[in-house]
Amino acid sequence: MWKEFKNFIQKGNVLDMAVGIIMGTAFTAIVNSVVEDLLMPIITGLTAGVDFQDLVVNVGGATLKFGNLINAIITFLIISLVLFLILKSMHKIEPVSDEPTTKECPYCKSEISISATRCPNCTSELEGYHNEHAHTHSENVVVK
Ligand SMILES: [Zn+2]
Repeated sequence: MWKEFKNFIQKGNVLDMAVGIIMGTAFTAIVNSVVEDLLMPIITGLTAGVDFQDLVVNVGGATLKFGNLINAIITFLIISLVLFLILKSMHKIEPVSDEPTTKECPYCKSEISISATRCPNCTSELEGYHNEHAHTHSENVVVK
């Protein structure tokens, strides 16, 4: 359990997570500001001075501040849209997978499964070649 925890910290996951949380907090503050300081005044202007924040509905004795709810929904939609765009652009840059799923047979040069120990095309034994090949690939992944 401790060994797993040590690996978890050393892999930099904790640092990545911390950076993510800090960035997320700062980002939320920016989006909140955009909604409250830029979007809301425009909407207020368009709706002839009706301030969204002050929008309340009285039902019986209860006061429903649905202006705040609309605010939160708009904030949520903007954050979702930005996150979607970030994720989309990240997928464009990074290949879907770093792990190769095929390798080249050293004897007949055909493309075969990465875990194959015998070539399906020329029936050559590939045991030794497979290990050496896998090693070079794991080194490539670390460089990334
Ligand atoms: Zn072959």
